[in-house]
Amino acid sequence: MSRIIPCPHCGQMNRHADGREAAKARCASCKAPLFDGKPVTLTAENFDRQVKSPDLPVLVDFWASWCGPCKAMAPVFERTAAAYADRLRFAKVDTDAEQALAARYQIRSIPTLVLLRGGQEVARVSGALPEGELRRWIAAHGIA
Ligand SMILES: [Zn+2]
Repeated sequence: MSRIIPCPHCGQMNRHADGREAAKARCASCKAPLFDGKPVTLTAENFDRQVKSPDLPVLVDFWASWCGPCKAMAPVFERTAAAYADRLRFAKVDTDAEQALAARYQIRSIPTLVLLRGGQEVARVSGALPEGELRRWIAAHGIA
């Protein structure tokens, strides 16, 4: 079995065979690590490509630079991203820069986290979460 994984750097779709060491996997096109454990910045340009694979769920943090709770949440989000590197991709959308994406997902308060699988929303939660709560919320949606 294998999974189709979008490169977080260039968006190229890569086939990653189960059992191959994720930390060593690199994009066939740009050679960037496939699972670098860092949140990916999403824009109108790369959003659809980054979220569409059914093989890798994506957790999108809709945030803004003027939002205190968003800033408080950022280091939690980064630490958790590293822990889930090959099972769940973490991504960020700056709602000021990407107003069309914020409108598409009807973001009414920030931070709002939206969990996508195969491009479809499966869950969302608003407000900053501490790391333990974030991990429990992720686990509650079937991601170990
Ligand atoms: Zn690439």
